[in-house]
Amino acid sequence: MKKVDVAIIGAGLAGIFTAYELITKSPDLNILLLEQGDPIAKRQCPILTGKIPSCIHCKPCAIMRGFGGAGAFSDGKFNFTTEFGGWLTDYLEPETVLALIDDVDKVNNQFGATNTVYSTATPEAEAIRLRAIAHDIHLLNARVKHLGTENNRKILERMYDWLDEHVELSCKTQVTEIIPMKEGKPIDHLNGVVPDAYELETSKGRVACDVLVAAPGRSGAEWFTDVCDKLHLPLINNQVDLGVRVELPAIVFKEITDVMYEAKLKYMTRQYSDIVRTFCMNPYGYVVTENTDGIITVNGHSFDDPALRSENTNFALLVSNRFTEPFREPYRYGKHIASLSNMLGGGVMMQRLGDLRDGRRTNAHRMSKSFVRPTLEATPGDLSLVLPKRHLDNIIEMLEVLDRLAPGTANADTLLYGVEVKFYSARLELTREFETGLKNFFAIGDGAGITRGLSQAGASGLHAARAILRRMNHGK
Ligand SMILES: Cc1cc2nc3c(=O)[nH]c(=O)nc-3n(C[C@H](O)[C@H](O)[C@H](O)COP(=O)(O)OP(=O)(O)OC[C@H]3O[C@@H](n4cnc5c(N)ncnc54)[C@H](O)[C@@H]3O)c2cc1C
Repeated sequence: MKKVDVAIIGAGLAGIFTAYELITKSPDLNILLLEQGDPIAKRQCPILTGKIPSCIHCKPCAIMRGFGGAGAFSDGKFNFTTEFGGWLTDYLEPETVLALIDDVDKVNNQFGATNTVYSTATPEAEAIRLRAIAHDIHLLNARVKHLGTENNRKILERMYDWLDEHVELSCKTQVTEIIPMKEGKPIDHLNGVVPDAYELETSKGRVACDVLVAAPGRSGAEWFTDVCDKLHLPLINNQVDLGVRVELPAIVFKEITDVMYEAKLKYMTRQYSDIVRTFCMNPYGYVVTENTDGIITVNGHSFDDPALRSENTNFALLVSNRFTEPFREPYRYGKHIASLSNMLGGGVMMQRLGDLRDGRRTNAHRMSKSFVRPTLEATPGDLSLVLPKRHLDNIIEMLEVLDRLAPGTANADTLLYGVEVKFYSARLELTREFETGLKNFFAIGDGAGITRGLSQAGASGLHAARAILRRMNHGK
C-alpha cells in the first residue's frame, strides 16, 4: 500500500495552497494531493464550449470538480477582507486572517496574477457609500482583485504544472472512506483512542498517511458530512442563502463597477427585517449554470479581456436563512427549493421583473420584446411558483431600493434567474489550527464549513499547512 506523510483530499484552492505551502517550506515531505475530477487542462463544461445548451449532469461536473475546484471557471475575484468570504475570524484574529489573505495573494502573484486592486477606500467609493446609506443600503469595505475567467484558468494551469513537479498529484481519484488507524489496525470504536495514522479508501486503491487534510469543498460536502457522522465528529448547523441572479444592462451599474468592480451591498427589508445582500457582481459578464449534486442552480462570471465582455452586468441577490430547532438541515431546504425550479423549468428559470410584479409568467413572446438580452439560455417562467413569498418580497423590495442608487435596476426588463443558492457545508468543530477532534486530521475550506470564497479557502490551506509544519518539526 502506498504510504505518504501528508494526504490532501480535494485540489480546490484550500488543498492547492496546503500542498504549495508544505512543499515550499519542507521539500522532503511526501505529499499526495487527491482530486476526484480532471486535471485543469482537461476540465471542459460542454455548455461553456457551446456543444449543448443546458446541463446534462456530467459526472463529475467539470464546473465544480477537478484541479482548481469550484473556482476554476470563476472570474477569480479575490477579496481582501474578513467581512465576508468565510468565518476564519471565528478561529483567528482578523489581522492574522488578513495576513494569510495577503500571503495567498503573494503566491497568486508568483503565478502571474494582476497587480490591479479595486478598493472601497477611495473618494469616488466614499461618494457612492454616502448615496447608498441615504437609502439605508450599506456598502461593505473591501479590496478586490479581479483576475478574469481566462487569466484565472492560466494561473491554475501554471500552479498545476508546478505542483505536478513537486508533489504527487492524483486526479480522477475519489476518496470514498477515511479510516483512522492505531498501530497498523483500523480503530473500530474511537472511544477516546487517538489514531496514529489514517488510511484512505480511494477509487484507485488504498493509501496510508500520517497527516490528513480534508478540503472537499461544497461539492464534496454531503460525502464529508457522512464521513464525519461515522467518525462521530460533531457538526454545527450552518446557513443557506437563497435568491436570484439579477441581469441588467451594464450601464445601470457602470458608475459603481467602474469605481470598485463589485459592490457588496446589504439592506434590511422593511417588511420582514431580513437582510438581503448583493453578491458576486460581474460587470459585462455572463450568467452560467452550476450543478451541485445533480441540482442545477445559477451563478455568474466575467472576463478581463474587453473583447470577451457581454453588454450586461449580473449579480446575486441573496437572503440568508438560519434555522432554529428542530430543523437542522438548511442544505436540504436549499436543495428542495432549487429542485422546484429544475422541475418546472427543466433547469434554471428566468423571469422579467415586470412580469413577476404583475403576477404573470414570462414566456417566449414577452422575452422577444425584452430590451435586456439574456446571456444564459434559461426557461422563461414564473419564479413565484418556486421561491417562498417572503424571499420574493425581500428581493423585490431590495431591487426597488437599489433602483434609487442605480436607476434602471427595477426596470420591467431586468431579468431574474432562479434560483441562486449558496450552500454552506455543516461546520465541523475545529481547533484554532483547523484540526478536527481526531489528531492530525485537519479540515479546511468550504467543505469544512469555515470558508465561502477563494481568498479565505486559500488562507485556510496556508494556515493548516503551517500548523502541520510546526508539528512535524517538533515531532508529532
Ligand atoms: C461558478 C463559481 C464562481 C465563483 N466565483 C468566486 C469568486 O469570484 N470569488 C470567490 O471568492 N469565490 C468564488 N466562488 C467560490 C469559490 O470557488 C469557493 O469558495 C472555493 O473554490 C472553495 O475552495 P475549496 O478548496 O474549499 O473547495 P472547492 O474549490 O470546491 O474544491 C474542492 C475539491 O475537492 C474535490 N473533492 C470533493 N470530494 C472529494 C473526494 N471524496 N475525493 C477526491 N476529491 C474530492 C472536488 O472535486 C473539488 O475539486 C465561486 C464558485 C463558483 C461555483
